[in-house]
Amino acid sequence: MIIVLTPKATEADAKQILNKIEQAGLKPLYMPGIERIVLGALGDERILASLQLAANPMVESVKPILTSYKQVSREMQSFDTQVQFGNKLIGGGSFAVIAGPCAIENKDQIFKSAAIVKKHGGIGLRGGAFKPRTSPYSFQGLEEQGLKLMQQASLEYDLPSVTEVIDASHVEMMSQYVDAFQIGARNMQNFRLLKAVGQTDKPVILKRGMSATIEELLLAAEYIFNEGNRNIIICERGIRTFERATRNTLDLGAVAYIKTKSHLPVIVDPSHGTGIRELVSPMARAAAACGADGIIVEVHYDPLVALSDGMQSLDEKDFEKLMRGLQPFVTAAGKVIA
Ligand code: PEP
Ligand code: MN
Repeated sequence: MIIVLTPKATEADAKQILNKIEQAGLKPLYMPGIERIVLGALGDERILASLQLAANPMVESVKPILTSYKQVSREMQSFDTQVQFGNKLIGGGSFAVIAGPCAIENKDQIFKSAAIVKKHGGIGLRGGAFKPRTSPYSFQGLEEQGLKLMQQASLEYDLPSVTEVIDASHVEMMSQYVDAFQIGARNMQNFRLLKAVGQTDKPVILKRGMSATIEELLLAAEYIFNEGNRNIIICERGIRTFERATRNTLDLGAVAYIKTKSHLPVIVDPSHGTGIRELVSPMARAAAACGADGIIVEVHYDPLVALSDGMQSLDEKDFEKLMRGLQPFVTAAGKVIA
């Protein structure tokens, strides 16, 4: 329920109503606005009804939140959330480009790749140290050693880092090395993992599961938010359909849809979304055009020697071209490159 207080209502009135909500065993939410205070109550709708909050003279209206996800919905917060990543803000008018290799392979590779990202205007460095590979025989990542290399490259090139976390028990160890967590497609509904990153204050890039509906994606975000971490960035990375020409089907309709339903920033991964190098730039431009708040792209100093996802990775020349090509689309969408 969303409880809008009258303009006369004071903080003390709000506190009294919040206490009542909490005593009934529901989750109270406090959202002070510019013109009036808005409160929220989450939990069993029957208990909520029995509180008769509408009868309180300080309450202007009580309305249900219609979506199954609550705290991440625009009904709860109409303005865009901005997530601080390094010294940049993701969401709310800027377009962020995060780039880097699929996996951290060695010091030379992550440093050379980070140099390319920095030189051509990326604002963050991506790279996996724990790789959730489809085959147990594929390269699994350098694990903690990889995180150490990533941290060195991140400091050297002044690029905040993001890496995938695949196990809740790694969260604390990984927090020492990286600036943000990525929840991969294969773990979008690993609820213990979602709760674990929800208990940190680091930004979380939450990728859509390969067969997840938009509602399931936003409910996964709700798990993180519900633990207290509001620094969530949704990522559309393609879904599995009957189409086999591309690795996945990049669902840009989902981006436009989520922007209307949720206040969280939404970015697009055109690398995993297509799996084909030549399609990465066009889909990055399409992402900007449909209102995305940024992209996350695979860049490798030499894709031919990449240990994973070389087919969809961009080299320096391709990345430079992508950045140049994005500019007019970002401007047309009313945003500026972060
Ligand atoms: C990745 O970003 O390297 C990755 C494994 O992505 P996804 O979880 O979207 O497949
Ligand atoms: Mn990859």
